[in-house]
Amino acid sequence: MRTLLLSVLCVFSVVFGFCSAEVFAADGKPFTVVIDAGHGGKDAGAIGSKLKVMEKKINLSVALELGKLIKENTDARVVYTRKTDVFVPLDERPKIANKAKADLFISIHANAAVNRTAYGTETYVLGSSSSSMEVAMRENAVILLEDDYEKTYEGFDPNSSESYIMFDYMQFAYSKQSLSLASAVQNQFKKNKRTDRGVKQAGFLVLKQISSPGILVELGYLSNADEERYLSKTKSQKELAESIFDAFVKYKADYDKKNGRVSKEAKAEEAKRKAEEAKAKQEKADAEAKKKAEEAARKDTVAKTVDEKVKKEEKEKKAEGPGVKVEDGIVYRVQFCSSSKRKDLNSREFKMCVPAFEVAENGIYKYMYGEEKTFDGAAALRKKIQVSFKDAFIVVFKNGVKLPIPEALPYLK
Ligand SMILES: [Zn+2]
Repeated sequence: MRTLLLSVLCVFSVVFGFCSAEVFAADGKPFTVVIDAGHGGKDAGAIGSKLKVMEKKINLSVALELGKLIKENTDARVVYTRKTDVFVPLDERPKIANKAKADLFISIHANAAVNRTAYGTETYVLGSSSSSMEVAMRENAVILLEDDYEKTYEGFDPNSSESYIMFDYMQFAYSKQSLSLASAVQNQFKKNKRTDRGVKQAGFLVLKQISSPGILVELGYLSNADEERYLSKTKSQKELAESIFDAFVKYKADYDKKNGRVSKEAKAEEAKRKAEEAKAKQEKADAEAKKKAEEAARKDTVAKTVDEKVKKEEKEKKAEGPGVKVEDGIVYRVQFCSSSKRKDLNSREFKMCVPAFEVAENGIYKYMYGEEKTFDGAAALRKKIQVSFKDAFIVVFKNGVKLPIPEALPYLK
């Protein structure tokens, strides 16, 4: 349906000489959106099937909420066709928009259908479609409440389908933008779990005479009891306004981009993005610093553990006694006997020193006992041996070789 519509539009565009030309104005003026709360005053619009909720009330509530969101969050200027429960003739509404030099027109309505099971949202752009004739006829019927309506609307009869066949195709110039906003609105409704009945086109008088892109939103069906209950709630009205607002923001961002404008909300968005970026950077730096600190603490703990181990070992060594010195390759023995004649190593004469250790030096056989790692150990052994051999003394071996006295002295004390 949309593709077909766009094709039709392109044909008209070529004929009227504005093919693919953007109709966005780049004059530096604030972006102006006209919000049109449908009906009002003596025109109640559709009436709910069960709670008898009046459409005009819902439309006004959503319109005011939408305007508030736009004013608070963007640099757009908001103009309302009505801010209270007053009657505004249908042809007056486009006049308000055109006088305000609107850049966009959003008309807000709620639907009703003979089929009471019908429900969901739909957004309209101006066009002619026989399937949407019923909705357009109902929304346009209000002009019958106006005096001289035939004069005002140049013979337009809202109840005659023939009146809808020819429209002023000026509106087609804005169709691309209108369709883009209408699609965005429906997408937002869908995101917020509203039933999407799609983007449609119909001959709404209110859209016919505006000189800007425009859409007409049907919030839901008051003829459906469930939807009437939903639409009557303030919370729902806020949700609906938020959906239209989100779509508006997307539309305006696109408009600003195409016109080289930097809007207040874009600046705010940029500042927010930068702040988030800076925060993320800071968090990353903090995390790295923390990691480094933890790593340093871990290394410190390891160093302390090693240090404590070394200290413990040193302490243990000290506990073995003062002057204990263990050197690799050094062995202490106690020499208790020497003789020019060789003796039996297991001789009874050696008593407690069996088996003895024999070293021959210059024709003299020297007999020793023990294999102590420390001097203190050797000294204790010597003391025992002196009971039998009172001249026993300590000798030092290094790597299996007996050290001569001068070399042995450093190991003796
Ligand atoms: Zn309506």
